[in-house]
Order: sequence, then C-alpha cells, then structure tokens
Amino acid sequence: MSARTTLACEIDLEAPGKRHGFLRLPHSTHESAYGFIPIPIAVIARGTGPTVLLVAGNHGDEYEGQVALGRLIREVEPGQVTGRLIVLPAANFPAARAGRRVSPIDEGNLNRLFPGDPDGGVTQQIANHIAAILLPMSDAVIDLHSGGSSLMYTPSALIRRSDDAAHFARSVAALKAFGAPHSYIVPPGTNGGRTLSDTAFRRGVLHVGTELGGGGAATPEAIRVAERGISGVLRHLGAAEIPWDADAPKRVTRILDVGGADYYVHAPDPGVFEPLVELGAEVRGGQPAGLIHHTETPWRMPTPVSFARDGLVLVKRWPGMTARGDCLFHLGTDTGL
Ligand code: CA
Repeated sequence: MSARTTLACEIDLEAPGKRHGFLRLPHSTHESAYGFIPIPIAVIARGTGPTVLLVAGNHGDEYEGQVALGRLIREVEPGQVTGRLIVLPAANFPAARAGRRVSPIDEGNLNRLFPGDPDGGVTQQIANHIAAILLPMSDAVIDLHSGGSSLMYTPSALIRRSDDAAHFARSVAALKAFGAPHSYIVPPGTNGGRTLSDTAFRRGVLHVGTELGGGGAATPEAIRVAERGISGVLRHLGAAEIPWDADAPKRVTRILDVGGADYYVHAPDPGVFEPLVELGAEVRGGQPAGLIHHTETPWRMPTPVSFARDGLVLVKRWPGMTARGDCLFHLGTDTGL
C-alpha cells in the first residue's frame, strides 16, 4: 500500500455539497498520446457523520450496482446526507465500458489486484487509488457485485467472518440492514485476499458486498434489491436517508455460511451444462447437481455431477458451454444468525 497515486481527482472530496467528475488515469495510446481514462466519481456531503464509499463496476459486466449508483448520484441531495457518500459507479471503467469482467487494456481483474500498485498496469493503478486514497477516508464500504457473465446468483449480500466479535457484530447488523433475500458469510482471504472486501476487512473498515444476480444482464428485481439495500445500510449507519425502501416490506434476510471446497461444484469435463436444480433449492450431499453433455460425441453418456454436502443453492453457472474446472454451483448453510 502506498499513499502515492497516479490518478488525479477532478472534484474536491472534502468540501460539503454535491459534485461529480472524473478520476483521471493518464493513459498514452496510439489513438491518444496525452489522454486519460475518465473514471466517474461523485461526492455528496453534509455535516458530520460517517464516510461511506459506494463502489460498482469493480467487475465491468455486473450491472445492477452501476444502475443503482447512477440513480443515487442523480437523485440524492446533500440535505439527505449526514456525513459523506463517495460514489464510484464504474470502478474498473475500461471493463465497464466494454461490458467485461476484466479490463480490455491489460486483462486486469480489479477485484484480484488489491491493494494495487501505482507503478503497475492501469487496473493495478485503479486498485491502488481505491486502497491508498479512498479507503483511508472511509468508515464503511459497499461494494456492489453480481454474478457477471458466467454466474447467476439469488440476490445476496455478504460479509467476512471475523474473530473480532465487535467488528463481526457490526458487519452482521449491516448485512441485516441491507436486507437481501439471502445473505452469506465467507472466510477472510477468499480469492487470494486480493479483493476490495478483503482489503477493507483487514483494515477494520466495515464492509458489505453483494452478489445481486448476473448472467451479463440486470433484472428489475435485482436492481430493486440493490437500491433497497443501499438505502437500508446508509440509514443504519446514519449516513443518509434515502426513501428507496419505503414501499418495501421489512425483510428478514436468511444468513448462510459459505465454507470450503465442499460448498462448491466444479465441472469435471468440458461440454454443455444442464443444471438439475434451481437457485434457492435445498439440496443434500450426493444429490445430482447437473449433467455435462458431450455434444461432439452425443452417443457418449453425459457426465453426472453431484453436490458434496447439504446446503442451499446460492449460485449457478449461467452459460451452457462449460470447460473443465468451471464453477457450476456453490452452496450456503444456515448460520442461525
Ligand atoms: Ca464480481
């Protein structure tokens, strides 16, 4: 981590009021020798209260959060805020513009590159700016993910399990305030510990993530879950009063654990994936999960895949075409929280 950054912020993040502009990431290309990559950013601030960093487009093909944070920038006024909202709706902007999980410039997967590097590629420079400049300003981070092009989730929010009882209790309370239909808790250090969530977690910054839907598209249901969740968490933190959940019945989220390898099902063969269960299903260990069909040799019997343990189906693979090693499902198990 370094407080050095290569990005220049066009707007003042310290003064009260509402401003929007770009983080300028200098990028010299054949088409644009002295150009910059314009990463949208906004701030809405008033008085004394928590600073909340709201991020979407960390993966560029995850759209619900991008849509919800755009609405937040357009609709929320300083009078609704007590503290400060810093909004980064297309964090990996080159990926978001391309509708891709990773950057078309350097294939950078922003959420596997934290804490970043100011001397690295463009995606590492973005990670560094978030980790070195924006995160230290923030009391809480909401990082809005979804299944992207290759996965479909039942709308969920998530936190990390912590040995620090007070921090964990604050995280669970924020998860309940988000109020997604399902919530789940993952161990720290997943995905190599290189995610924004893990970086926030290690620094003791309150963090709520989401997995809202996916399939490379946004549904009305998943966008509403995002909007209600954002307003619920911001109210819970005392940071903003946004009436996006006014029409929604108070939802009690079901909080699940996601543990180790036995929670996941991976494709043992390449082929066409036929899921045999739907999202939200309660399954048993040994139960058939899907079939991998061999369309190049259709006389060959499909390869069966089963669940390794009992649980609730939180996510499934979305495209039919599947390679050996692709994640087909992961499960959650009830926590009683
Ligand atoms: Ca994601």
